[in-house]
Amino acid sequence: METSGTSANQCLRCKSAGPLLRIDPGLRLRIDETLPSENIPPEVCANCFKQITSLVSSGAKLMREQNAREQNKMNLWRNRVNILKHGRKLMTLKSYSDAAVAYEKYLRILEVVYDVKAGGLTPEHFKNSARTKEISVVASVYWDLVRIYDTTPRYGDRQKKSIEKLLSFLRLSPISSEIGRKARQFEPTAKNQAVIKDFIKRIDKKGGGCFIATATYQNVEVFEVRALCAFRDQVLANSAAGRFFIKSYYLFSPPVAELVDSSPRTQKLLKKIFRALAPWLNQKFDLHTPEDV
Ligand SMILES: [Zn+2]
Repeated sequence: METSGTSANQCLRCKSAGPLLRIDPGLRLRIDETLPSENIPPEVCANCFKQITSLVSSGAKLMREQNAREQNKMNLWRNRVNILKHGRKLMTLKSYSDAAVAYEKYLRILEVVYDVKAGGLTPEHFKNSARTKEISVVASVYWDLVRIYDTTPRYGDRQKKSIEKLLSFLRLSPISSEIGRKARQFEPTAKNQAVIKDFIKRIDKKGGGCFIATATYQNVEVFEVRALCAFRDQVLANSAAGRFFIKSYYLFSPPVAELVDSSPRTQKLLKKIFRALAPWLNQKFDLHTPEDV
């Protein structure tokens, strides 16, 4: 084989001249695994060879670490269910401080899984995924925390923080009116009554009760949901009959919403109805449907 001339012995990676070493198939395989974006020629100089083998071994180490982290996240995600159940059990046993510890642990797990700072979790983290149901779970956890932190004035700040979080999660959850109902039941015996009263006011404003529509779209930011909320707040709420209807609706709709939640066929049917109904209501009653409900 003709090996004269510098071009034959030029390293195609660093362009320097010198004896070349072949990348054997084993190394090639590890390069493809760990450095898929690198374009490594079949032969390289000794210097490049050394660089590549060290890159491959540190790349493999990184991959192992990343796999371990992912595995850890998967384990945490699975384990969260047990921690949640434990927290709820403690809640029924009235072991409030232990329940709070379990719930905070549950929230911490979600923060680790989604790589967010403490308190940085938002419902958007669960959007567009098979995990949207978790939004309601998180909301129910925050509601329990609101009750737990009500037990002593020392936790006033934590209670307020939990309320803010709760409201942000309820925006995208069909359990808004259910929490509203629970808050109304809780309010007469609450220690921080003013805080709970204010919470109820805000939950009503946020479109609590539109949950059949919310369950249909799994999202409150659609025009149909906003129009139905506006119809309730701007038309129904202004008459005695309308208010009676709203109250009855509160009674029968939680099981209906639950049904809709788990039935894509019902969702499809209701979407058809709402698509026709919403614009009609909007025009007929000249509704105000702002983007930011
Ligand atoms: Zn080289």
